[in-house]
Amino acid sequence: MIPYENLKTLNKPFEEKLRKKFDLFLDKGWYILGQEVSLFEEEFAAYHQEKHVVGVANGLDALILSLKCCKFSPGAEVIVPSNTYIATILSIIHCGLTPILVEPDSKTYNIDPAKIQSAITDKTAAIMVVHLYGQCCEMDPIMEIATQHGLKVIEDCAQAHGAKYKNQLAGTFGDFAAFSFYPTKNLGALGDAGAIICKSEADAAQIRQLRNYGSEKKYHNSVVGYNSRLDELQASFLREKLPYLDEINNHKRALAAIYFQELNGDFIKPHVGSDFHHVYHIFNILHPERDRLKKYLLDQGIATEIHYPVAPQNQLALKDYLTKFDYPISTKIHETTLSLPCSFAHTKADIYQVVEILNKFNT
Ligand SMILES: *Cc1c(COP(=O)(O)O)cnc(C)c1O
Repeated sequence: MIPYENLKTLNKPFEEKLRKKFDLFLDKGWYILGQEVSLFEEEFAAYHQEKHVVGVANGLDALILSLKCCKFSPGAEVIVPSNTYIATILSIIHCGLTPILVEPDSKTYNIDPAKIQSAITDKTAAIMVVHLYGQCCEMDPIMEIATQHGLKVIEDCAQAHGAKYKNQLAGTFGDFAAFSFYPTKNLGALGDAGAIICKSEADAAQIRQLRNYGSEKKYHNSVVGYNSRLDELQASFLREKLPYLDEINNHKRALAAIYFQELNGDFIKPHVGSDFHHVYHIFNILHPERDRLKKYLLDQGIATEIHYPVAPQNQLALKDYLTKFDYPISTKIHETTLSLPCSFAHTKADIYQVVEILNKFNT
């Protein structure tokens, strides 16, 4: 049996280090917003050669607090990909803003820059890009459009830790970048965690306030804040794993390379241009008979996942929040996509086995 994911195996190489961190944590007895959070913020900033990182409770909150920091007028429009995990769109709704869904490029699955231009109205305030599956969006034209129209850019980097476009790291292009360290992400905590990269000390200070009840000074609250602090214990675990992020990504890239080289048959593999350093949070293929393929693989002992089975516009939760429900490219991706095993816990031998079985799938 080859699992899609096994978090216990994935964290095995870090086990000793993590236990040591937990012992230190217990000995110290400082549980909330301590040194581990500050140090992780510094180290995560240094990894990106950035100055300002604020740790928050999770990836959704990272998106929400980034938007809150922008202080857009109620009802302002935020451009967002139609092909994304629902969290991206939820963050816009939670801030009282209007999500405007834009279709992806059918080859990269990421938001199509050409279609952003035509979605801009006089109410547009921001573009929220998602570097989906671990591949950066085409940031040059997107930043150009944003500059032209005076729009903020927020990057959803939940699936793209360490991904690059033209040698520049995801999370360093926009005004804000939201990261999730949900356990399955390329940099995963042992629980919920998130962070925001921002460009100014003023924004960082604002987000620090927002994550802690809007308080600058203890018991003095100047804005209507949240409780969205990065947990001290999770920060201490993340500090242990951050130095291995590139190794984790390179492992996933090496597994993806096997799929690229060895998979034949009518599977559509991801399109990765030479400007893109893909980190394969998810390695997906498209196949017209996706459900039959998934069952075939499971019968042969290979677990797969679907990211995602229901397109955002078809989610009950969004029915009152969208003005348009017709997104054929995104729908087609949702209907045909299948995510194959490609994690830090898999070996090359696992992937060769998956390939061998996949190549025997006859249509
Ligand atoms: C995981 C994910 C999120 C949300 O992160 P959480 O930490 O689970 O809140 C947001 N956007 C995308 C694209 C994700 O994959």
